[in-house]
Amino acid sequence: MRLALFGAEGKVGSVLKPVLERAGHEVKGIEIGDEPDVLGLDACVDFTTPEAAPANARASLEQGVSCVVGTTGWDPRPLHALAADRGLRLFVAPNFSIGAVLMMRFAREAAAFFPRAEIVELHSEAKKDAPSGTAKATAELIGGDPVIHSVRLPGLVAHQEVIFGGEGQLLTIRHDTTARESFADGVLLALDKLDDLPPGLTIGLDALL
Ligand code: NAP
Repeated sequence: MRLALFGAEGKVGSVLKPVLERAGHEVKGIEIGDEPDVLGLDACVDFTTPEAAPANARASLEQGVSCVVGTTGWDPRPLHALAADRGLRLFVAPNFSIGAVLMMRFAREAAAFFPRAEIVELHSEAKKDAPSGTAKATAELIGGDPVIHSVRLPGLVAHQEVIFGGEGQLLTIRHDTTARESFADGVLLALDKLDDLPPGLTIGLDALL
């Protein structure tokens, strides 16, 4: 596919670009200050900031190009109608790591058997939003409004524990992302399945697995 990658020089973007290229995609990197000119491309991918992502996704859809977004900390729902009206896809996932999606699935399953849970999410100190999109999505999945603890420290990449407490027992479900390459498989999967999705907004890698 011919792709635009918003945020190609960011921490995720700079790892993602060579992986997309090795998979056979042609990638045009778009950085802050560049014109978001994506006309005629097959899809856009965005890993930028919560401030930039809505405008990038809108620019992409207005130019007739479907969009895959990994940026967290923004609400994509207002763009559903724009995408749907034009027969385009807006795919947004709070976590593109397949292991993290499985961690969320297992947590949803465990929630039925424990009265209480808390979530601890740990990320690099550069992460701008807290709690993380993955933690918020996990909280919604398991229900009961669990407390979310956010840790931001150097040395961390992206990690999450869901701790369930019951009478005389604890269950911890944990996922660790140790390198940003872990997000690439999910992005490749989303690009591969983009045309199979219904027009409009789809949220979460779970929908593709
Ligand atoms: P980052 O290192 O700060 O990278 C963001 C990049 O976007 C920077 O190169 C930044 O440029 C650029 N940028 C800012 N505004 C832009 C605009 N208007 N147009 C194009 N590029 C723009 O952040 P990151 O760690 O790569 O993370 C990016 C986003 O992805 C964050 O929201 C993070 O939470 C999210 N994320 C999601 C997943 C997932 O699986 N869904 C995984 C990891 C991260 P400047 O440096 O010049 O400002």
